[in-house]
Amino acid sequence: MQRNITVFGSSVVDLMSRAPHLPAPAETVKGSFFMQSPGGKGFNQAIAARKAGVDVAMITKLGRDSLSEIPLRAMREAGLSEEYLFFSDSVPTGTALIMVDETTGQNAIVIVPGACSTITDADVAGASEQICNSEFLLLQLEINQDANEKAAELAKEHGVKVIVNTAPYQPVSDDFLRGVYLVTPNEVEAEELTGVAVTDKERADRAAELLFAKGVRNVLITLGSRGVYLNEGGKSEIIPAYRVRAVDTTGAGDAFNGGLVAALAEGKTLREAAQFANALAALSVQRLGTTASMPSRAEIDSFLSQTADLTGQK
Ligand code: ADP
Repeated sequence: MQRNITVFGSSVVDLMSRAPHLPAPAETVKGSFFMQSPGGKGFNQAIAARKAGVDVAMITKLGRDSLSEIPLRAMREAGLSEEYLFFSDSVPTGTALIMVDETTGQNAIVIVPGACSTITDADVAGASEQICNSEFLLLQLEINQDANEKAAELAKEHGVKVIVNTAPYQPVSDDFLRGVYLVTPNEVEAEELTGVAVTDKERADRAAELLFAKGVRNVLITLGSRGVYLNEGGKSEIIPAYRVRAVDTTGAGDAFNGGLVAALAEGKTLREAAQFANALAALSVQRLGTTASMPSRAEIDSFLSQTADLTGQK
């Protein structure tokens, strides 16, 4: 039977435009394309896990506005329950205003987290039964941190394994990290967290030691196209990524973390889960978009059976 998993985090609507060039200050540029899509790290990770074939409880907060319809529709389509959705009466649904230069692919982004940065103690209390009955609770750093702290505290008290994807990076307290089952920074965040530039495996070992000293139990650092560094409290290794032609790596970290928690939900070991997440993320970077690029379970299984030898893994 599947283990109970919860993704607690942000939900924002991506408002994306493409234009011949990015506007300079005070300039107005006529664009060629506009798209609204659901996003936010929490939301993306929950969708990735759900599409990978497991049941996921998603806890997030939206505004009472028409923009909230976008994540709501996507949740219904993906089969995610709305039971732990909270709504702000006064703060709008979060947005990410994304401008993309259609020639260079460069972008400029303003994120307004909105309602999902106003998660109250009462909201966390409203979801406490789900949190406490979970085996794994996956958090990111895109909501108000006091809500993450409350949820993590509750989870740890009840023996729930807390996974913290330290993105987007912001400083966190030692209390928050103490007793965390797993942290999953990317290379940049690993350096921000520890002060150690993760340029090779030895330095990754040093960064991991510093995190163990803070009471974290396992460390996984995503290394982009190089794969992931995994340290389970002593033994460390780099699990290579799959060699694929990447067209859009936006959301690769979200794909990875969603895949990881989905595999853990199925009882896989951390190492097996990291391999599964590598495959899920490798599929997602070959397509445009974030939630739209998350593969289905059938696609992941077929990729895994065809490419078992691509990384030298079996
Ligand atoms: P983030 O998006 O948070 O910066 P990374 O760039 O480290 O995270 O990517 C997360 C994971 O996505 C990697 O560990 C790897 O599994 C996968 N990935 C990212 N880029 C590529 C790529 N070019 N080819 C294959 N897999 C990739």
